[in-house]
Order: sequence, then structure tokens, then C-alpha cells
Amino acid sequence: MTRFHLLQHRTARRQLAAVAVLAVAISLLAGGGALAARHARQPSAPPVDSRVNALLAKMTLQEKLEQIQLLPDFLVTDQEVKAGLGSVLSVTDPATINRLQHIAVDQSRLHIPLLFAFDTIHGFRTIFPIPLGTASSFDPQAAMDDATIGARESAAVGLKQAYGPMVDVSHEPRWGRIAEGAGEDPYLGSVMAAARVKGYQGNDYSAPDKEVASPKHFVAYGQPEGGRDYNTTDMSIQRLWNLYLPPFKAALDAGAGTFMCSFNAINGVPGCGDHDTMTDILKNQWGFDGFIESDWAAVAEMRACPPVNPPSGDCGHGYAADGADAAAKALNAGMDSEMTSTFIRDFGAQLLASNQISMARINDAVRRILRVKFRAGLFEHPYVDVSKADSAQMQPDAVALARKDAARSMVLLKNDNSTLPLDPTKNTAVIGPLGDDQHDMLGPWWGTGRDQDAVSLYTGIKAQDPNTTFVKACDLPNTEPPQYNPADDCPVGPGFDQAVAAAQSADQVVLALGETREMSGEATSRSNIDLPGQQQELINRIAALGKPFTVVLFNGRPLTLANVAAKSPAILEAWFPGVTAGNAVADVLFGKVNPGGKLPVSFPVNIGQVPIYYNHEPTGRPCDITSKYNSRYRDLTTCDPLYSFGYGLSYTTFNISNLELSSTTMPTSGSVKASVDVTNTGSRAGDEVVQLYIHDPVASISQPVRRLRAFERVTLAPGATKTVSFTLDRSDVGFYDNMGRFVVEPGQIDVYVGDSSKATLTKSFTVTR
Ligand code: BGC
Repeated sequence: MTRFHLLQHRTARRQLAAVAVLAVAISLLAGGGALAARHARQPSAPPVDSRVNALLAKMTLQEKLEQIQLLPDFLVTDQEVKAGLGSVLSVTDPATINRLQHIAVDQSRLHIPLLFAFDTIHGFRTIFPIPLGTASSFDPQAAMDDATIGARESAAVGLKQAYGPMVDVSHEPRWGRIAEGAGEDPYLGSVMAAARVKGYQGNDYSAPDKEVASPKHFVAYGQPEGGRDYNTTDMSIQRLWNLYLPPFKAALDAGAGTFMCSFNAINGVPGCGDHDTMTDILKNQWGFDGFIESDWAAVAEMRACPPVNPPSGDCGHGYAADGADAAAKALNAGMDSEMTSTFIRDFGAQLLASNQISMARINDAVRRILRVKFRAGLFEHPYVDVSKADSAQMQPDAVALARKDAARSMVLLKNDNSTLPLDPTKNTAVIGPLGDDQHDMLGPWWGTGRDQDAVSLYTGIKAQDPNTTFVKACDLPNTEPPQYNPADDCPVGPGFDQAVAAAQSADQVVLALGETREMSGEATSRSNIDLPGQQQELINRIAALGKPFTVVLFNGRPLTLANVAAKSPAILEAWFPGVTAGNAVADVLFGKVNPGGKLPVSFPVNIGQVPIYYNHEPTGRPCDITSKYNSRYRDLTTCDPLYSFGYGLSYTTFNISNLELSSTTMPTSGSVKASVDVTNTGSRAGDEVVQLYIHDPVASISQPVRRLRAFERVTLAPGATKTVSFTLDRSDVGFYDNMGRFVVEPGQIDVYVGDSSKATLTKSFTVTR
């Protein structure tokens, strides 16, 4: 039973406990629960747990507290390692990893190896597209490729834990970290989360090319108020369960061995101090037996300030009086490993003596950490082969996959009069601040990626069309606040005239526009999501020439593109495509690859619409722009985003038809099969993502107007047809209520199938008892 339930029902504790048992029973019976029952971790096999227990029995209190400690590269000392430090983050040099590991194994009293962790988010050295891009591929294999290669390259330098996948669902385009996740939808997010966990870990993360995954940030970090990173989150229980928890559950079901708790407060309680989410839900209800590490100094941040005690470090949540109180709260809430701050280590003995924490809880945390270390094979293979670390990076197969998946992640937003594909035999002008850029192509969280490895758009296009010229037109400086000044972004200058002249003399024109990589990722919220600086003015001047051109966008979030779309015949959303950027974009521009990506997030017309997401709840006054008293904006003539979730074009055309349901009824224990025919009606081979959405028109909690429940990306030759089938069961039609219980209610379910969240093909069936 969680605080979230308590919020709603302030009943006596004993009654609550009874309801908790019932809730678990109901959810086990329900579809979501059935999944839980199928996938919940069994207690680990005897060998690991008996080894853990034997080791634990030998540990002193101080050694246990050291094991809970996780330090970054610049704080780790040999002394600390000798004392029995648990884990290290952000050391990526294999010789240093081995040196520290030798100290741990040879010189610490109990010879417990260190766990080395790193933010391998979309690649270690071979940088794949940002995860929001990969999500646009609607191809879980692309996400799996990324994590597989990331784990292989990371493990080759001695890393054994990836701080990924980032599975925070987000409705916040202002939030820079939307780049790191799979967008706004819990179902797509769940599919991508599971694929990434499988990629990092395989079936056994002790394998030499695997790492243990750490899905983050538990939980609801993707919904900071105002879109400002680290800001507070406040939400209903049903939203938490229906929108934000599912990708974490999917990651756990895929075997995720560790988790990271979040910076943000949820309904007033910081993520790393939240017993309800970490202990009640993740550990007790879902059966997670690995460990939860804090996010960076998140324990320290729980402290009140000013003044702050001890007198340094982060603070501010006002949830704990001082370091000792924060340590007790985090540990008692279920956090097992403290990143960067050192309060459990420093105050653990004192807290134990005063009964503010228990030995049982300390033992539980240490057991979980040791369990992961044993499962990772660290006791058998603590060291890395330094001589092989370099040659494992940027292997040809990795680079080829990065290129293929980058091209698959691109979304064609507009293509009037078949502006694309371009003709490689004609003269091409590449214009714009990101046209010959390497640095920004890697996007935020570039791992150990190097700018010089990245292929710029100009280089990529020139490789396929030697008659290509480049004019930068303006700069997008890579500065950070407080040096960053929006007025420096692409100011109008002489470069604009050079750009116009180059466009005039070329047969075809590509504008390379967007954001710098510093504008996305952590701590990079934007209050304005237009194209930065005067890039729109550059578009306007090129458009004034009256010749076709294509805007290629490099960015880490949805942008407001109404003006761009009004002026540009063709727009390709390339995201930050990674190390093969220019080659992958050129593959799409010249039609070697027919774009088939779809948006994993809505692109608003106007920032004032945010939050805007396709799976919103209905209202009693649905939007109708022809009248006043309904849910609309007075100054907008639409309630829709500019580009909807699931939208994306191709160089060919598709027809989706013949929606059939295997039955018009579905008992709660049964299933219904939906099938449709998808036909390539154009003259080129291409990909379509067939998407199935449902709507429950009458429910005890108003249900979203649509919810994605299945999709498949298919490749079809011209004229070819494929029948695509999806099976729906209780896990699809049910939902979580405001007690966090999974319920399946009898009644009508509408099914929509098509090529976006605007799908119109529809049929219904009835769920019966
Ligand atoms: C981020 C995490 C990251 C950690 C370690 C934090 O600031 O929020 O996502 O894993 O740093 O680098």
C-alpha cells in the first residue's frame, strides 16, 4: 500500500494493509498483474544468494557502509577503495579501471570488486541517434542495436553498469531531457525500454560484452512543472500508473538489474526518499531484487537550506533537516546506493546507534549490491583486457548499424511536389549553421564520442554528390549559461547574402538548421522552442527565391515549426543522428533510404499549447473551434498539434484497409485479433508503421481519447500488400485506477488502425465478464 493510496483514502493502517493484499491480488489477476506474475523476479538462485550471505556475514558495519557508497571519478581515492568502496562512476580509461580494481580486489580486506558505471545512453564511442530519434524509428531493433553496441564498447574498457535506459515519459518539449527518452507514449516507451535493457544485458549480463542496465529516473522525472529540469512533479495516482510507471515495469520485466531514483519530488516527496515508489511498488509489488542507486547527490539535495548541514554540497528540497536525516530517509525509503554525497557512509553508525536506521535495512541494501556484483561475474572476472579496449571501439559493424538506425529514425514532416528525394547528379547547396558541423551531430550524452569521428552533413552529401557547395550563413555558438546569449544565435549578417547567392546558383538546396547539442539534455530547458536565433529569417530569404528547398532539422526536442512549415516545401526531422549523421541524412535525402520514421511526440503549433499529447483525457467541452464555450484557445484556429504523434511521410504512399476483428466480444480472460491490409500504392519500396490505438468510451475513470497498444514497421515493395495482425487482451483494455489497481471493465472498446494517432479506420468490440 502506498502513500498514493493513502492520499486518497485515509483509512486505518490495518484496513489499508488488507486493501494492499487485495490490490496485489487484483493486479495479479488483471492483465498487467498477469505479466507481473509471469515476469517478477524469483528470489535469486541459491549459489548467488548463499555467496552473498557468506560474504555479508564477514563484513563490518563500516565495510557495509562503504559498499553502499558510489563515487564519481574525481572523488575516488585509493584509500577509499581499500576501505571497501562499492562503485565508481565515469572512469572510462581501462588502465585506471584495472588499477582501481586491483586495489579493491588485492588490498581491501574482503576483496570485493568495484562496479564501474557510466552514462552509456546512446552509444559509448560509436554514437547512435539520440533516444528520441531512435524512438521515431518505431523499431525496437534499432534501440536494441544501440544498447548492444554501447554495452560492447563500454564493457571493453571495464565498465559493467550502464546508467540507461532513460525511460521517462514526457509531455514537456521545453525539458531538454526529452531527448534522452522515447517521447510521450507509455506503450512505445515500454517497447523501447525493454529492447534497450535486452541490448545492454542480453540474457546474462556477466557476458564479457554486456553490462547491467539501470533504468532511470524512478519516477515521473519527465513531468517537471514549467518544463524546468529538476522541478517538482505533481500528479494523480492513475496518471503515475498509466503513463509513467509502465516503461519501468517493462524494463524490469526485460530483466533490468538495477534502477536509479530521481531528483524530482513527486507529490512533495523527493524520488530518492520515496518509500511508496521504491519499496512498495518497485521492490515489494514488482519483486525487484537488485539495487537502486541515487541520482547524483540526490540524497544531499533532500536537505533544507540555508543553512545547510554539513555545510557544503547540494540542498533545497526541505525534506530532511541535515545530512544524517537525509541518509536515514533515503535508506529507509529503499535507496540502496548513494551517488556522490556520502551521508549514509558518514552518518550510518550514528544513525544505527540511535535506531534511526536498522541493521536489517543496511544488510538488505548491501545484499542487493553484492547480488548484482555476483550476477555480473565481477568476482570471477574483475579485470579488463586493456590491450583489446581500443580495437573494440567504432568497429565497422557498429558504424554500419549506427548509420542504418539513424536513417531509420528520421521523420519526413513535409514533402510538397516531391521536393525529395534529391538528384545526386545535380548541383547541391548545403546552407546553414549546422551544415558542416560535427560537434552537434552527437547530441547530448555523447558518451566518449569524439567530434572528429562525426560525419557532417556537408561531408555526407558531398560523398554522394560531388557537386556540392557549403555556406554556413550564421553561427550557433556552443556556449552555456551564463555566457549563452540567445541574441548570438544565428544573427543576420553577410553570411545570409552568401547563402542566398549559393542557393541561387544551385539546382537543389538543403538548409541545415536546428539546435546545438548544448540546447538539449540535462539542465537545458528552453522557454521558447522556436528555431533559435534568426534561422527563420534565413528560411524566409531562401524561400523568397521561389525554388524548392529542404529544411533538415537537427534538434533534441519538438520544435514549434508553424512558420518553418509555412515557408518550406520539404522538412526532414533528423534529430541528432550521431556519429554517422551526414551519411545517414544523405542516404535519406538522395532516396537510398526511404524515410519511414514517425513522431514519438507531438509537435505543437504554439508553445502555449504545452502540454499537448495525443493520449489526453476527454473533457465535457471537447475542442470545437467554431464556437466559444469549449476547451480551446481563443487565438488559435486549431486544437491539434502541428504534427501529431505517430505522424511521418514517405517517398511512396500506403493504403491501410480491411480492418477485421476476430470477434465482436472479448471475455476478460480472452483476446481479440485485429488485422489490416497495408499496401504500398506508390512506385518505390518503403516502410509504413501500422499503428493500433484503442479508446474506452465509458469507464470509471475517463479514458484517454486514444491509446497506442500495438504497432509494426513493415517494408513493402511497390504494389505489395501485407496483412498485419495484432492481438489485444486484458492487459491492453484495462487501466490503473486511483488506487493503483489494474482494472478491466466490461463494455465497448473502439479500435483505430492507421498510419498515425489520427487513424480513421475503426471497429469496436465489447469486453464481457
Ligand atoms: C543525471 C543522471 C546521470 C547521473 C550520472 C545525473 O546528473 O541526472 O541521468 O546518470 O548524473 O552521470
